[in-house]
Amino acid sequence: MTPVLPVCRACDQPITDPDDAVCLGHEMGSSGPGWDLWAHRAHAHLVGPDPDATRILARVLAAKALWRA
Ligand SMILES: [Zn+2]
Repeated sequence: MTPVLPVCRACDQPITDPDDAVCLGHEMGSSGPGWDLWAHRAHAHLVGPDPDATRILARVLAAKALWRA
């Protein structure tokens, strides 16, 4: 079985050098265990927070603010 190379979250290119790989965390899957997020060492700072999680958090905070008004 061929090992699967991690793919950089910032540039979508495979990370061929294990020393150049930075694990950014774990993303949950909707129907499975999820997967680890990787980036090249030089690209790790380019990866922002999960846009879906940010959008959901913004909606929750807006609803809370309106509820109190
Ligand atoms: Zn990259």
